[in-house]
Amino acid sequence: MNKLLLRGGRLVDPASGHDGAADVLVDHGVIAEVDAGVRAAGARVVDCGGLVVCPGFVDLHVHLREPGREDAETIESGSRAAALGGYTAVCPMPNTDPVADNAGVVEMVAARGREVGLVDVFPVGAVTLGQRGAELAELGAMARSAAAVDCFSDDGHPIREARLLRLALEYARAFDAVIADHAEDASLTENAQMHEGEVSAMLGLAGWPAAAEEMVVARDLLLAELNGGRLHLCHVSTAGAVELVRSAKARGVRVSAEAAPHHFTLTDEAAGSYDPVFKVNPPLREKADVEAVRHGLADGTLDAIATDHAPHAREDKEVEWAAAPPGMLGLQTALGLALTELVGPGYLELAGAVERLTAGPARCRRLPGHGGPVRPGAPANLTVFDPDAAWTVDRARLASRARNTPFHGRELRGRVVHTLLRGEFTVHHGEATR
Ligand SMILES: [Zn+2]
Repeated sequence: MNKLLLRGGRLVDPASGHDGAADVLVDHGVIAEVDAGVRAAGARVVDCGGLVVCPGFVDLHVHLREPGREDAETIESGSRAAALGGYTAVCPMPNTDPVADNAGVVEMVAARGREVGLVDVFPVGAVTLGQRGAELAELGAMARSAAAVDCFSDDGHPIREARLLRLALEYARAFDAVIADHAEDASLTENAQMHEGEVSAMLGLAGWPAAAEEMVVARDLLLAELNGGRLHLCHVSTAGAVELVRSAKARGVRVSAEAAPHHFTLTDEAAGSYDPVFKVNPPLREKADVEAVRHGLADGTLDAIATDHAPHAREDKEVEWAAAPPGMLGLQTALGLALTELVGPGYLELAGAVERLTAGPARCRRLPGHGGPVRPGAPANLTVFDPDAAWTVDRARLASRARNTPFHGRELRGRVVHTLLRGEFTVHHGEATR
């Protein structure tokens, strides 16, 4: 069947500003018509009554673990989790084994993503060779490769040397690429187990001060301002960092920023359980930080919700707190958390939350065909969700190979019903089609 009619839904398309009833006709994988009361003889009709139709979600920050740790996740299992979460595009970080610091690895990741075909995979290349922070990787070769990399990051590690970040920002300007930094001053976080504050003092765990993030954010913003490069800040988690981004944007610095669902949902008190599922980098912060991240997303200081989906094999993660690696799953819970934690309490309207999952992240990168607008001629990368459906997160039922979700047992509102990649269902009635 070449024609598909999504009928009777509420089309929320932040890129065009549309929010209201509209049918969407898809023909051969491309959007053919968007209007109220579209009539299309011979089209397969999908009833979207009571549902939201929007561009497919875009995740700027995931870890798919392939190559190297296929026991924790693969490009296939991660793509399936993404599709089930409503995503049509994901950007895997380069901290694989081998590191994605050359054209060969980024091309392999992109090719495997295409072969799986459940989401578009846009690999992020490493900024420095082996992410060791000593010398720049061949950014140009990755940019010119078949993977056409337009974003570089040493995520997991900060770019310690200001000189290198400055060089990277300058170099990346030549191909209009973005440098995405993981802001952490490692000299302040050595052996740190959680956020530094009252809770860490009470638990007797070494703390990771907010200042360790904020110092690097401040430095990065100054460097981006100095040379006009495009900077993106990964997983902003503190009130001070949100404020730094806000004031930098006000003076015209070319910066974009993301926040992770766990940073707008959970606080450092979760560490009191000593369950390493709550260990993450940057760590879960205090209530005031959670509040600041929510406001940052609401006023657009933070452009995107990015999951930092970080699967870990059970034998690595289910150990004592101090020995566990940081990171949590995120792809299948992002929509539910955005609606439950941001829209429910009134920080954002539904269209605003959809923006931070679609047009917002798409603006931070070059991701052709993603983030909307939903208009004739565009590829039919679409998500259909039920904004009211309540469901309970069950780690046993996630598509990821790993099980480390901190949201197991939590009731969320908002569930993905269908996901379409170029007009093909990757998820149909809540089930992956492959
Ligand atoms: Zn990171």
